Amino acid sequence: MKTFVAALLLSASFTAHSADSIVSGRDYHSYAEPSAFRVKHLDLDLQASFEEKRLSGVADLTIARIDPLARKLVLDTRDLTIRRIWWMRSATDLVPLRFTIGVRDPMLGAPLAIDLPAEASTPELEVRISYQTRPEASGLQWVAPALTANKTDPFLFTQSQAIHARSWIPLQDSPQVRMTYSATIHVPPGMRAVMSAQSTGDDPGALQPNGIYKFDMPQAIPSYLIALGVGRLEFRTTGPRTGVFAESALVDAAAKEFAETEQMIQASEKLFGPYRWGRYDLLILPPSFPFGGMENPRLSFITPTVIAGDRSLTALIAHELAHSWSGNLVTNATWRDLWLNEGFTVFLQGRIMLAVYGKQREDMEEMLDLTTIRKELATLPPSDQVLAIDLRGRDPDDVFTQVPYIKGALFISWLASRFGDAQIDKFLHDYFDKFAFQSITTEDFRSYLEANLLSQKPDAVKAAEIDEWMTAPGLPKYAVLPHSDAFERVDAARLDWLAGKITAVQLPAKDWTTHEWVHFLDALSGKVPTAKLAELDAAFAVTATGNSEIAFSWLRIAIRNDYQPAYPRLESYLTTIGRRKLIKPLYEELMKTPAGAARARAIYAQARPNYHPIATATLDSIVLKR
Ligand SMILES: [Zn+2]
Repeated sequence: MKTFVAALLLSASFTAHSADSIVSGRDYHSYAEPSAFRVKHLDLDLQASFEEKRLSGVADLTIARIDPLARKLVLDTRDLTIRRIWWMRSATDLVPLRFTIGVRDPMLGAPLAIDLPAEASTPELEVRISYQTRPEASGLQWVAPALTANKTDPFLFTQSQAIHARSWIPLQDSPQVRMTYSATIHVPPGMRAVMSAQSTGDDPGALQPNGIYKFDMPQAIPSYLIALGVGRLEFRTTGPRTGVFAESALVDAAAKEFAETEQMIQASEKLFGPYRWGRYDLLILPPSFPFGGMENPRLSFITPTVIAGDRSLTALIAHELAHSWSGNLVTNATWRDLWLNEGFTVFLQGRIMLAVYGKQREDMEEMLDLTTIRKELATLPPSDQVLAIDLRGRDPDDVFTQVPYIKGALFISWLASRFGDAQIDKFLHDYFDKFAFQSITTEDFRSYLEANLLSQKPDAVKAAEIDEWMTAPGLPKYAVLPHSDAFERVDAARLDWLAGKITAVQLPAKDWTTHEWVHFLDALSGKVPTAKLAELDAAFAVTATGNSEIAFSWLRIAIRNDYQPAYPRLESYLTTIGRRKLIKPLYEELMKTPAGAARARAIYAQARPNYHPIATATLDSIVLKR
């Protein structure tokens, strides 16, 4: 996932836990007991009702028995209505089972405990669950037509990471349980269903006139990668194994913006081994999607806010694609081990961007990342600045900070500086092979690192240095930091302009890329006179920019300096975009003054019904506090 948010304050339960030591590999965010049973395959048959905002149908679970004596199967659920459950003695012989739903925990949901009869003692068994979701399901976003690109039809999309799969499927919702899945999805005629799976029978672009779509995912994946989208979607091919699903208003722009996806796949394969998932398509979501992208296998979910018209924000595609190796192929066993997914992915993303777009762009993107993590490190408690963060008692969604992403990537870059790029690429290639389709812990990785890299060249790094990366807050002094000549030129121009040596129109900004603009704006810290902002706006129409990243950096400056001409744009920005990275800092900036807070509350009242539950969970604590 590509998302950057500051952590919430430590919860009381976290403090209470911190005296005990963490058990590596134990999933503190699931009620499931994988030592008793393990789900191997899921078969869904679901009907999507937009009127009721409900998925309804059955989930058949094929389960391997691990403990021969276990009689109780425990699954994760959140806000599901469970109608009936059967043990499938055979395809035609269904034995009703008793079950209980435990107390609902606000973060984890409720355990579903199913009593199994003594005869169900076979090594493998099948259970059928008839259920439906509720309109408030945290993993489902039912988007009203007015908030889609076409504004004619509603849109449904799922977001299962981190622990939201349980709000639309009863299952073992833990990244260390991998399953294959198949699905039949019934949607209103004219609409199309897509999933993180291959559509069976037809070409990916085929529209089913009866509204029935069938899918098959033959590779075992963790529950957080099960994904569904339903909308009036069109399809465009962009390469031999790539394409784009989007509403008609966006599909051509998206296909053009992401035309280089096949090139990115080839660059990745050259470095890290074959792409093992068949097709790689993109689903362009409505702007309320709370994240940049979500690496659902075979079908990444992508925010429309990266369709800039000039391919300047395609690093997001490189990121989601890179997850086809780090994350989807080799998966974090628990959310504490998230940096194994995200840090590696940011590193791979850099390698892909370098191969496809060259060094200047890659340097700028790494510099922007560095600026962001530095800002965030200044606000995080030390315990949240380590690679493997203790998440006990906390919602994993709120601790997706820059740390597992950027610090994780800087750790791999540092290893590359000591061992050489070629050796690191080979190490990663072999690592993905070794742990393909497995879920591993930080400790598993460290053992592998020691046996397969550190031991090859014992003097290259010290054990104390590895320890510091893994367990100390902040960035080590010897981290290898990026550098950008292009940004140095932007800095010089900014200083000349601020000092009055040149006017805004004399800034060499005509050829600036998105990256240079963002760097220029983000460096305008502190107070900037209104006349200066007006001058910049008159020269480059910054308030009206169609680029969501440039607009974000500009609006943050506008709020800080009370630059009133930008306020109408701020309001339309916050009421049309739901991507948490782009809206949360704007609300935070507004909340710093009483007038800003009043404005934030007024805008939020209007915007909140259209935000995703994951975004409102974060924003409520910022805007509605006090
Ligand atoms: Zn990611």
